Amino acid sequence: MIPPLVDDAPEQKQAFEAAQRMAAIVESSDDAIMAMTLDGIVTNWNPAAERIFGYSSEEIIGKLVRRLIPADRPFEMKAILTKLGAGQRVDHLETIRLRKDGTSITVSISVSPIRDVDGTIVGASVIARDVTEQKQAAENARSLTAAEDLVRTVLASASIGIALADLDGSIRVVNQSLCDLLGYDEAWFLAHQIRDMVHPDDVEEALRERARFMTGSSDKSVTKLRLVRADGATVWVRRVAVLLGGGDGAPKQLMVQVEDITAEHDAQEALAYQAFHDPLTGLHNRAWILDILTLDLRAAKRLGTSVGVLLVDLDNFQVVNESLGHGAGDEVLAIVADRIVSVLRPGDRVGRFGGDEFVIVVHDLRDGLSVEHCAERVSASIAADLLVRGHRIMPTASIGIATATPISTPESLLGDADSALSRAKATGRGGWHFFDDLVHAQALARFTVEDQLRDAIALGEFVVYYQPIVTLADAHVVGHEALVRWNHPTRGLLSPAEFLDVAEETGLIIGLGAAVLDQVCAMLAARPELPGPISVNVSAVQLAAPGWLRNVRDTLVRHRVDPARVVIEVTETAVLSLVDSAHVALASLRRLGIGIHLDDFGTGYSSMSVLRDLPVTGVKLDLRFVHDLTTWDSQANALAGGLNGLVKGMGLTGIAEGIETQMQADILRAQGWECGQGYYFGKPAATPVT
Ligand code: C2E
Ligand code: MG
Ligand code: MG
Repeated sequence: MIPPLVDDAPEQKQAFEAAQRMAAIVESSDDAIMAMTLDGIVTNWNPAAERIFGYSSEEIIGKLVRRLIPADRPFEMKAILTKLGAGQRVDHLETIRLRKDGTSITVSISVSPIRDVDGTIVGASVIARDVTEQKQAAENARSLTAAEDLVRTVLASASIGIALADLDGSIRVVNQSLCDLLGYDEAWFLAHQIRDMVHPDDVEEALRERARFMTGSSDKSVTKLRLVRADGATVWVRRVAVLLGGGDGAPKQLMVQVEDITAEHDAQEALAYQAFHDPLTGLHNRAWILDILTLDLRAAKRLGTSVGVLLVDLDNFQVVNESLGHGAGDEVLAIVADRIVSVLRPGDRVGRFGGDEFVIVVHDLRDGLSVEHCAERVSASIAADLLVRGHRIMPTASIGIATATPISTPESLLGDADSALSRAKATGRGGWHFFDDLVHAQALARFTVEDQLRDAIALGEFVVYYQPIVTLADAHVVGHEALVRWNHPTRGLLSPAEFLDVAEETGLIIGLGAAVLDQVCAMLAARPELPGPISVNVSAVQLAAPGWLRNVRDTLVRHRVDPARVVIEVTETAVLSLVDSAHVALASLRRLGIGIHLDDFGTGYSSMSVLRDLPVTGVKLDLRFVHDLTTWDSQANALAGGLNGLVKGMGLTGIAEGIETQMQADILRAQGWECGQGYYFGKPAATPVT
């Protein structure tokens, strides 16, 4: 029989009500509340536990609680049970538990022992709170501060300038490097826009680039632009801009990094400049001229026009270099470059090919005349006095001209101009010459000449011919001029016009001249009865060569020849008149008793100053004056007569060269010319006449 409930009704009722209240609390709790036996079998499971762990009470009651515990924590349960066994609680243990769906959650659990009426521990109650989100939030907060710290450190320690700006360019954050780079403080940046630091010439492009990049697909833009420092100086930078997104992924800010590449930029510019410019004159160089010539030739072909090339080479430039030094030579080149540029037409191209060689390209050429006019202007502009380190010199230039044919290449055209230049040099300094087929053939021959010249000196192929110099009064021989000939093994006897020019340019003239002087002195020594001195021609290159003077002295001594029996003939080239070492050499020869005659007198610009500056003992009237003496009353007569007045007035010996006719001899004699030389009196021959 069941005892009536009413017996102990009041107590039971209270306990029942308390149990009901407790059950309600458990039911409605947000925390999972469960109970288990000491064997770990779940006995109670509230709705929150269902929610949190995903198991319904039907699924889990009577099952082991171990299924909630991750496999990597095998000892946790044991530790808890041990504590419980000792009558202790576990409070707020933060640990990981598995949900039914296999995901893990972070929970804070508190475990208390359950005792029976005797106080024996029979199980445990567990309260578990899901703290996964809370934990995540704390973690997020921690990593955010760490990230902020990181950004701050990166900004502060970055060696490149960094700015954060709004999308409209208003600056929000700058680092110290940017302040240092531009010389503004942080306050300045915060009151300005990014564009305010950009160079005015680059602002437009920078804004365009920003617009392109913000609407484009890439979220990074790299450009090179100029910024302006607080002190006004320009800084070249590589700018990297990155869009920074907000939480929703839409860009919110702009991060701009700027790296100072001024040095790199300048170096690149310098390299590019060097690649196409001549450092001395600032003109373009060979590489550039070849490039532009390629383009001009192509355009000319298309338009049916032509291209002209002028190769300009200074006459006797090596004399300036050797006697005044390379510094002076450089000064002359720079001045000449300016002079050339000053007379060019817009569109003409000019460059320096190294040494004393300049090149002018006249494009879109319609007739040969305009290149010739160009040559005329260039030639005239160069031939004006200039003062270098206290020396007055007058540079002249020879010019080779070539015009393009439809099959010309830059190389062939320059080659043609070069051949024409050699021709121009050969026909006298200060002139110009057009390229033609004859010139071309001669150019080919010239290469051969240079090669053979070297051997010729060693093989003794040079022989000296002697042409008599006579008094015009009674045709008495009063001396000879030594004229070199090349006894060429296959081409026969060659006159100086065929090789002298090459000999001078290659410096072979030094050895050649020494051989001539040696033969002349040997002749003088062998023939003491010869009337008068023998005149030896010396070119400017020889005069400027170190050691020339010593060689002359040594040769005289070796052959025991009286210096008074030798005359040196020098042509009055413009440079010669002003070159110190030449003066010194000639003065010292003069002191030895050697005569000095000024050759080709009257042809240059500076004849008068040469007469004034050099210890000259005689002049040789250029044969061009003599050839013009065809009648008794030509203008040439007045010129030749006037020059004789000058020569006489200065007490010099006057020799008229190139006399071929009786009439010329008569006219010159009547004008008072003392001596004469020419085919009329005697051709150059292997032996002198007595
Ligand atoms: P230059 O010193 O003015 O010599 C005179 C030139 O005129 C010589 O030419 C001579 O043969 C030529 N000639 C003489 N009489 C007449 C004449 O009646 N009519 C014509 N049309 N010509 C005449 P060449 O021998 O051909 O020499 C040419 C130049 O070469 C010389 O001109 C001289 O400047 C140079 N030269 C000759 N030999 C040497 C040398 O050993 N060393 C150097 N450095 N130059 C030399
Ligand atoms: Mg001569
Ligand atoms: Mg002469």
